[in-house]
Amino acid sequence: MTKKFAVFGKPIAQSKSPLIHSMFAKEVGIDIDYQAILGNETNVEEDFERFFDHPDALGANVTMPFKENAARWVDSLTDGAKAAEAVNTIIRKDNHFVGDSTDGVGLVSDLLRLDMQIEDRKVLLIGAGGAARGAFSNIINARPAQVDILNRSLDNAQRLSQVCPNEITTCIDQVDKLGCYDLIINATSLSLNNQLPAIDNKHTHNNTCVYDMVYRNEDTVFVAWAKSQGLQNVADGLGMLVGQAAESFYLWLGERPNVDSVIKALRIELQNS
Ligand code: NDP
Repeated sequence: MTKKFAVFGKPIAQSKSPLIHSMFAKEVGIDIDYQAILGNETNVEEDFERFFDHPDALGANVTMPFKENAARWVDSLTDGAKAAEAVNTIIRKDNHFVGDSTDGVGLVSDLLRLDMQIEDRKVLLIGAGGAARGAFSNIINARPAQVDILNRSLDNAQRLSQVCPNEITTCIDQVDKLGCYDLIINATSLSLNNQLPAIDNKHTHNNTCVYDMVYRNEDTVFVAWAKSQGLQNVADGLGMLVGQAAESFYLWLGERPNVDSVIKALRIELQNS
């Protein structure tokens, strides 16, 4: 039997998930059918039901704007999905559907792949939206020395810090209260509009690592800014995208695909697009 998977979103044509999962499947030698499904905004639950009516449908990814719908639709949530208040991965276990959120695993695995250490480091997390929410507890669990959350709305930063209450997090909405960091993660959508967060080189040192969750077919403005400061370890979020997909693949099929070759292939695909 060909195992069936899908990604639900709106829009969905731009999704890289079918390509990523077909590369994973080829690499581990499993035959899968992975479709991109344009969800119905008024009743995406019906789309989930229709897809999972097929007994060979083993799992799905869910992207914007349906992650909260998926969290309500599944029968149970993992701790990660509860923290994220969103589901990007549905796993069928017999006829029970489990919702998980793999963005945080995707981020932390990519940081470590890039040798951007978190343990004992001073971390600045910029942004407090859905992406930051999905990753916050994974960042804390990686045992940083300090995490400052910089966000335009202090309320949202404070709400984010409650996802995983701890003694090392400070919420900040004014740049003059920032320190100097070993790792800076941009989890805002600013790069999509070619805008920079309001930080400067006072907040970095020679070995600061910089990560932008946004990825594009060329350097994001934040990646370009960090490189222009002479920083060496700088990356965008393409590896996070592949890392979160790899975790979904593992949850469905118990196989861990090699992410390096897929990131390389996707980078070439992006540059040619
Ligand atoms: P949200 O809309 O939930 O959050 C956006 C965040 O950006 C908020 O913190 C918001 O601040 C901040 N922000 C937006 N505009 C401005 C501005 N003009 N000035 C200052 N702050 C601003 O988005 P998500 O959290 O879902 O996604 C953030 C980015 O992460 C997206 O662009 C997405 O591309 C990327 N992403 C990448 C993934 C990957 O796999 N690589 C996975 C998921 C997301 P405020 O709270 O004040 O509104």
